[in-house]
Amino acid sequence: MQVYEAPLRDMKFVLNELHTDDGFGNLEALEEFTPDLVDAILEEAGKVAQEVLLPLNRSGDIEGCTLENGVVRTPKGFKEAYDLFREGGWCALASDPEWGGQGLPEQVNKMTEEMICSANVSFSLYPGLTHGATTAIEGYASDELKQFYLPKMVSGQWSGTMCLTEPHCGTDLGLLRTKAVPQEDGSYKISGAKIFISAGEQDLTENIVHLVLARMPDAPEGVKGISLFLVPKYLPKQDGTPGPANGVSVAAIEHKMGIKASATCQLNFDESTGWLVGTAHKGMEAMFTMMNTERVSVGVQGLGLGEAAYQSAVWYAKERLQGRSLSGVKNPDGPADPIIVHPDVRRMLMTMRANNEGCRAICAWVSRALDAEKHSTDPEVKQRASDFIALMTPVVKALFTDLGYESANLAVQCYGGHGYIAESGVEQYVRDARIAMIYEGTNGIQALDLVGRKLPAHMGRYLRAFFHPVSEFIEAHKEDATLGKMIEGLEKAFGALQLSTATIAQKGMADPEEAGAAATDYLRLTGLVAMGYCFAKAALIAQGKLAGGTEEAAFYKAKLTTARFYFDRILPQATAAFLAIKSGKASMMEMDAEAF
Ligand SMILES: Cc1cc2nc3c(=O)[nH]c(=O)nc-3n(C[C@H](O)[C@H](O)[C@H](O)COP(=O)(O)OP(=O)(O)OC[C@H]3O[C@@H](n4cnc5c(N)ncnc54)[C@H](O)[C@@H]3O)c2cc1C
Repeated sequence: MQVYEAPLRDMKFVLNELHTDDGFGNLEALEEFTPDLVDAILEEAGKVAQEVLLPLNRSGDIEGCTLENGVVRTPKGFKEAYDLFREGGWCALASDPEWGGQGLPEQVNKMTEEMICSANVSFSLYPGLTHGATTAIEGYASDELKQFYLPKMVSGQWSGTMCLTEPHCGTDLGLLRTKAVPQEDGSYKISGAKIFISAGEQDLTENIVHLVLARMPDAPEGVKGISLFLVPKYLPKQDGTPGPANGVSVAAIEHKMGIKASATCQLNFDESTGWLVGTAHKGMEAMFTMMNTERVSVGVQGLGLGEAAYQSAVWYAKERLQGRSLSGVKNPDGPADPIIVHPDVRRMLMTMRANNEGCRAICAWVSRALDAEKHSTDPEVKQRASDFIALMTPVVKALFTDLGYESANLAVQCYGGHGYIAESGVEQYVRDARIAMIYEGTNGIQALDLVGRKLPAHMGRYLRAFFHPVSEFIEAHKEDATLGKMIEGLEKAFGALQLSTATIAQKGMADPEEAGAAATDYLRLTGLVAMGYCFAKAALIAQGKLAGGTEEAAFYKAKLTTARFYFDRILPQATAAFLAIKSGKASMMEMDAEAF
């Protein structure tokens, strides 16, 4: 059964206790968002997730989206839920007040996103993509376009999409063919076919604003000749209401493995009117603003689904009676003990729990950097925050979605055969989680981004924003008996990461295939160290609270136990990743393609 209760206590822990000493400082601009106000917002968000979105998750999966006579319909209840969501101001949470947004800290916004994704990840894509599109428009569009489009998009009255993919062009955007022909009035006529466009058409909003990558007639070949255009579904009239149709039609919607309530569309642009966003031929730069926002949000999809899968598995593990505990009967009045008594079931539940708490802790850390990058008045802090975000964006995207999928799979395993049956609700989590490892750049591409772009950037400067706090923490707590084995484990994994970084820098310079062969293991190793650092800090806080006496002993005890499990059972994977990196590309690349 799909059960979900927003993990508010852990969210408050990562927001208010875990990262207060992270060097990003207290931001004056966000002072009005007091812990009490933030708590109230998170509680409300939890209610929306649990009461409005969760009830539509399974029905949305069963019904899916439909296309009839060019009109896409979202499943029953989605329109009403979207209206409620929009009227409640949830679409505008993170946007700039200049455009009608609420200017909420990213730290709060990301926790809210997590809850929405746990409850209904298909639904999350509709407001999520709109928010991403507004970031690109805000950063690169002309003032006129901003004034006209942003208020309607921020309020959720109009939605946004990102149109990159074409049938022959996915990862390699340099191959894209959609054309943009300049017109005398400064606009462009956009023609071409796009596929896999999330929320490309739907019945939730009165207009849709497509951000389309296309090529002008004089454009250089490859990615250096791509420009970004804003193309509305309906050309707005001067009074801002939707006017005539703009030549954008839906050829089909995809029938897919999961996120069935999210409409994934094939769109045709037939001489549609569009306006340039940013500089000609520099569309990738503008699109990357949206893609980076989306990459962190896709990571949060993995976390949200991991949490939902965990809670559903815990519920079942307490209900399902099978076998007897190896340490003696625990349920003498029943025919068997609940399966939560079995070590192997515990292994699965603890792995899911550690995955979720670790990812949530990293998420809060990255969100603090996002806030500091935007609001800090100290240029040094701003730069460091921006370096940290650049480094961690591919890690958040790939690590969280890999682990979210792992957790969803483990939930099915906890349910046994019943998990494989649709009625249980947990197989949906596996299907829904799978796409997050693919879209917004596959996880393999995230790993290449990390080793190929982020590591060498500015002579390794990005890495310093991550390495410094970790090494300072290890140095400060080396002799700390209370952390004991944890700090030892963290130091070992961090050492492996430093060595791997040097190996990749050295070998990769001479042979880029060496860096490519190491990339996925390196990203995982980075993620494991980041989680280890967060868990060690969390353990320190928990131990302090328990030693000082606290009314919340159960919470801190559980935190400490989860941290111990992480160091005992998950962090050792760092050694395997290190050895894989060290082995180099030889056994991976040796075989001729014909031999496969
Ligand atoms: C449900 C769904 C929703 C989507 N939503 C959108 C959307 O809203 N907007 C949009 O524009 N697109 C969207 N996409 C497209 C998605 O972003 C692409 O599918 C994804 O980027 C991968 O491209 P591809 O499918 O063409 O795979 P390919 O690029 O063909 O890749 C196939 C495999 O090869 C690997 N590979 C490719 N090139 C390299 C390389 N250079 N080095 C190493 N490995 C490589 C990939 O990692 C992958 O494993 C969506 C897709 C789906 C399925």
